[in-house]
Amino acid sequence: MPIQAGVRVTLQRDQSPGPILRVAIAAPLMGVFDYLAPHDSPTPAAGQRVLVPFRGGQRVGLVLALAECSDQDPARLKRVERLLDPHPILGPADLRLIAWAADYYHAPIGEALFSALPARLRTAAALLDEQRAGLRATAAGQALALAELGRSQRQRALLGILREHADGLALDELKARLGPIAAAARGLRARGLIETCRASAARLGATPTQPAPARGPVLNADQMEAIRRILAAFGGFRAFLLDGVTGSGKTEVYLGLIEASIARDRQTLLIVPEIGLTPQLRERLTARLPARPVVLHSALSASERERAWHAAAAGRTSIVIGTRSAVFVPMPRLGLILVDEEHDPSLKQQEGFRYSARDLAVRRAQLVGCPVVLGSATPALETLSNARTGRYEWLRLPRRAGPARPPRIALLDIRDQPLRAGLSGVLREAMRSEIAAGNQVLLFLNRRGYAPVLTCHSCGWVGGCPHCDARLTLHLARRRLWCHHCGWYQVLPERCPECRGLDLRTLGRGTERLDEELRPLFPDVSIARIDRDTTRRRGELDRLLEEARRGAPRILLGTQMLAKGHDFPAVTLVGILDLDHALYAGDFRAPERTAQLVVQVTGRAGRAERPGRVVLQTRHPDHPLLQSLLREGYAGFAELALAERQAADLPPYSHLALVRAEAPTAALAHSFLEQCRACAQADVTAEVELLGPVPAPMERRAGRYRAQLLVQSRRRPLLQRALAQWLPQLRALPRARGLRWSLDVDPQDMS
Ligand SMILES: [Zn+2]
Ligand SMILES: [Zn+2]
Repeated sequence: MPIQAGVRVTLQRDQSPGPILRVAIAAPLMGVFDYLAPHDSPTPAAGQRVLVPFRGGQRVGLVLALAECSDQDPARLKRVERLLDPHPILGPADLRLIAWAADYYHAPIGEALFSALPARLRTAAALLDEQRAGLRATAAGQALALAELGRSQRQRALLGILREHADGLALDELKARLGPIAAAARGLRARGLIETCRASAARLGATPTQPAPARGPVLNADQMEAIRRILAAFGGFRAFLLDGVTGSGKTEVYLGLIEASIARDRQTLLIVPEIGLTPQLRERLTARLPARPVVLHSALSASERERAWHAAAAGRTSIVIGTRSAVFVPMPRLGLILVDEEHDPSLKQQEGFRYSARDLAVRRAQLVGCPVVLGSATPALETLSNARTGRYEWLRLPRRAGPARPPRIALLDIRDQPLRAGLSGVLREAMRSEIAAGNQVLLFLNRRGYAPVLTCHSCGWVGGCPHCDARLTLHLARRRLWCHHCGWYQVLPERCPECRGLDLRTLGRGTERLDEELRPLFPDVSIARIDRDTTRRRGELDRLLEEARRGAPRILLGTQMLAKGHDFPAVTLVGILDLDHALYAGDFRAPERTAQLVVQVTGRAGRAERPGRVVLQTRHPDHPLLQSLLREGYAGFAELALAERQAADLPPYSHLALVRAEAPTAALAHSFLEQCRACAQADVTAEVELLGPVPAPMERRAGRYRAQLLVQSRRRPLLQRALAQWLPQLRALPRARGLRWSLDVDPQDMS
């Protein structure tokens, strides 16, 4: 029953069958569907889930709005079968944000809505019981003078908080707030001061009784000025770019703002790229914040996630820290949004409902009327451009906080240099002297596995993936040839599959091989390798990072996992190996990503009192990207890169949407996009350009052929209008068997 344009049937008042419910179905279907309210239950409100009859079956839906009349024949409208929630689970502001996002990204509203909910709530499952086991103070506990309680800090804290909540508090909230409380609770119960109860989940704000947060460092003038200017915007919308060099203390600015937000009784949303990779940030925030944050991340179980979601939605928690999907978590008292590492590609959802959490954070702040702060040492060029035009207020932290000095970067020309383990003599010498001085060395090689290529010296055979246009990576310890694109692998062959020859050789070097080759060069030196292969087991990454921070391994080597926001105070030398291939990659964003990576890795050196230096090995020392980075840092690089983007009419100077198609044959994918192109001609104005179809940079992946059609315009509204006119025609096109297609608005990854 999609709503169709046509004759509007207006109901007479006295014939009214009750309000019409506009329902979004939990499926990738365009449009909303009209239903009548269920018999025998109160009329649902917008934001409540319902079970509805749909195409001969049952589907979960969510009421978007109530209407007086429907464009459908009222006699044919079906009734909602039952309500799934006792009250709305999304508020009007949440619905507005999601509807806006579905519209902007041209996604089905039902798909957008339900991907914003915790997994269990995408089904007909009931909400988790909000009445939970809890504790409350007895009359004796209320009356007792705290001085009579004895010296147990935890008992004091527990009784103190319970005395402020006469109805009691749930156990899990008490634990979240105070840490382990079992022993303290036993002690207090034995004295009759507290008792168990069924506690409704009450709100946890900042209260004076909680353990005092750890004290932070004294802020410098730049940090204080940034906080002052953002505070001045509290209560209304304004977007800020917090552009701070690595080590400049952006986190301290966040902490100051969060405290101020809590003092105003508002909730703060902090969006971070990957919590799993930054346990340190999580710990630091948790130790320093004046209230316990709710942390949403993938390591939580489904029910833990859902409880956290409810706590935020009910306004019981003052701080939510989460990855990109947290941008949709309902927060009724939201007063501040922070996006850390706003340049990070993982803030973009690449599958299903494709959205940018950073861009939606700005939109959400605008809808709610609160400030949003985008923080980075290496801002995305789009964000920098918004700061340059004044759309975002530009706050700079140009100095490192504390005593640390910025590291010096040196380009090391390795043309004609003898290398051992891929390291030039100069770098090896530098490593030796730092290690001898008791310091730590970090080697960055952004390629895991032993070697990216295995080849036969006799006949030239090269190990390739049978399903992708990609080479197989050799993982020697696991004796596998592995495709990093589709996950396919084979056991390492002993002979060449073509000529049965025995002379198989590797080309190139990954972290596994570097690790192996370093050991004889640095005997008696402890080495730690941190990449996806060495951190597969749960908890292993935290353990390795902790050891690395304590300075136990003298050499740290790893992929970009090492680059993200970790502090290694004893690292005084960073060696960057083998970035040259990235300098000439096809994607127009490759130089930006490379510069960001270099700056982030560089930021690991010399974080404490010891000065750091960075050696970047290259065969292209005159490359303009490297030269601009070296001479003027990221800001200089960005200046140059923006000028290049402008000359080439690329984002942020134009706006893109990418239609991708994949099919069992290249011809099918291509011909579908040709049809797309053909039906666009009539609508596309001179200012919206279609480029393609062309094969994707990796044409075959996981056994499917991929092609793409790029839509480009200098004016975003024109692009949006063209897409809105064009997409219904695309959806109506006949589709060959096995063909899939998708639209990506503002694509980040062009592959
Ligand atoms: Zn061979
Ligand atoms: Zn593959």
